[in-house]
Formats: sequence, structure tokens, C-alpha cells
Amino acid sequence: MVRPLICLVFWLITTSSEAFGISFHAYHGQEEIRASLLQLARQNPNLVHFHTLGYSEQGRNIDYVVVSHGEPESLPAIYINGTHHGDEKASTEGVLGLIDYLVKSRQLPVVRELLSNYAIYLQPLVNPDGHAANRRFDARGLDPNRDYAYPGRRDQDSFKTPAIRLVRDLTNKVRFRAALALHSGMEGVLWAWAHSAERPADFDVFFTLAKLTAQAMGMSQYRQSYSDYPALGEFIDYAYMTHGTLAMTVEVANNPTPPAEDLDAVVKRAVAGSVSFMLGIMDLDRGELSIIRNSSTRKDIIPWARTNERATRQGLQ
Ligand SMILES: [Zn+2]
Repeated sequence: MVRPLICLVFWLITTSSEAFGISFHAYHGQEEIRASLLQLARQNPNLVHFHTLGYSEQGRNIDYVVVSHGEPESLPAIYINGTHHGDEKASTEGVLGLIDYLVKSRQLPVVRELLSNYAIYLQPLVNPDGHAANRRFDARGLDPNRDYAYPGRRDQDSFKTPAIRLVRDLTNKVRFRAALALHSGMEGVLWAWAHSAERPADFDVFFTLAKLTAQAMGMSQYRQSYSDYPALGEFIDYAYMTHGTLAMTVEVANNPTPPAEDLDAVVKRAVAGSVSFMLGIMDLDRGELSIIRNSSTRKDIIPWARTNERATRQGLQ
């Protein structure tokens, strides 16, 4: 994968923290995030489109932007969201960093190509009530990333969280080609299914994309989510089940909210992984992605260097 590497190396060489419109030396509050997104949309009217998806249980805005050189409705779409879990604030910052990178690098040939062929939907805050309270759950104590329907649970028995109903509606309206849900609490890339050990039809494609994403982030861990631990009602399963969306979870840091002095590096890593993933999707759609086949032995897909006992025990992350 020469192309993503060229792009990312170029970016790392040429982009210092100071070059960001948004700096990542401190965590951003929700008003600050909203103001930044509105400003980006105002300054780049042909590139950044601001939308309010709806409101949380406690009435907080749930916003997203679409970044594209083309007409978003006419292009295949990729969706990247953060902070299903309110205390995983590194994931919000990761999405903000990605927005900033795409805007700043829009004329870089490979980014220009990506933004000309896809509409990128970016939602920094899935669960703003949890983010405000600095806790995992929504305002009623429900886990947003266990609230989606999956093959064993019907729609009417799911979607109890207003914020997750909004994600569901966006997912069903746009029918995303691919998606990443950023989380924080370990370092690794996990793909659907989470509810079942059964291999998805796109196992080899997931394996290839996950490896690409993890390597761009300097992480060695990537596997089917179920192999990490079984979980019912995750975003990735819903997106893949309903529309075949190539959906993965990216865990950007071991600490849900790393110290502020580490944030810049965490954000850069999240951006590197997300961009590599999207370029992988573009290559895949052109038939140019070298898909790794027959390499998915049990040993390959369970490369954890360490056991994650806390997560396994509590079903957290
Ligand atoms: Zn999480």
C-alpha cells in the first residue's frame, strides 16, 4: 500500500500541531466543537456541509459534517463517528482531527481523489450526554453501543436511546459503503460480527482493511470483534447487517481519555488509521486492493499481545 504511506508520510512531515485550525493540546468542549464545525462549513462552503442530525435525551445538539468535493447525494458515502461511549473522549478528538486533516489536505492529490469520489460523513459526538457527564452511558444509563438491532434482536426491542435512533436513521437514509466507529480503551481494530463467531461474508476484505488500518496506526491487533469478546447490539453489526456497510471499530488508545499532553499523538494516529481505511475502500471499489486471502488462521486473527481481562470480564470498550 504505497499510496496511503506516501500520503501519510507527507502529512506527518508537513503538518505540525500549529498548522491545525483546531489544536489538540487540550480536550474540546461541545460548544467549541460546534463552533469549529460551523466555522469550517462557513469558510469552505463547497467542501464542508454542516448538519444537525437531532438532539439527545437531554437536548444537546447532535451534529455532523459531510466533507466532499462532489455532490454528497450522488456519491457513495463513508461514515466515521466518535464517542458512542461518553468517557472515551479521545475518539471525539480523533474525528475532529480527521475533519481538520481532510479540509487542510483537500488539494493533496490522493485526498482530492478521495473527496471527489466519496462523501465523507463525520460525527464527532454520538453520545453528547455521556460526553458531558464523562461517563460511558447515555442519560438513562443505557450503553449506546449495545442498543442496535442485530440478527437475534428485532428493531422494536432495540433503539431505546434517542441518539442511537438518530444514527440508525442516518445509516438507513445514506446506506454507507463503509464506516468506522472510533472508541478508546484499548488499541486495535475490530470488525463485524461482534454478536457471533460466524465469519462474515466479507471476512477477507475486513481482514485486509483492518490490517491496513492497524498498521497505519502502529498497532498490531486486529480481529473479528467477537474474538475480542462477544457483544450484542453494536453499531458495526447493525451497519453491516442492514446495508452490507464495511463497518469496523477502531480503538484509538488504551486510555479512554489520555492525558492532554498525549492527545496530539493519539489524534494523529487516529487520522492516519482512518485515512488509510478510506483509501483502502477506494482501492477496493476500483478492484485495486490486494485482498489477503486464506491467511485468516485462528493464530492470525487473535494476535493480541496481552490479555484484556478487564474488558472481557465487563464487556467494556
Ligand atoms: Zn467504546
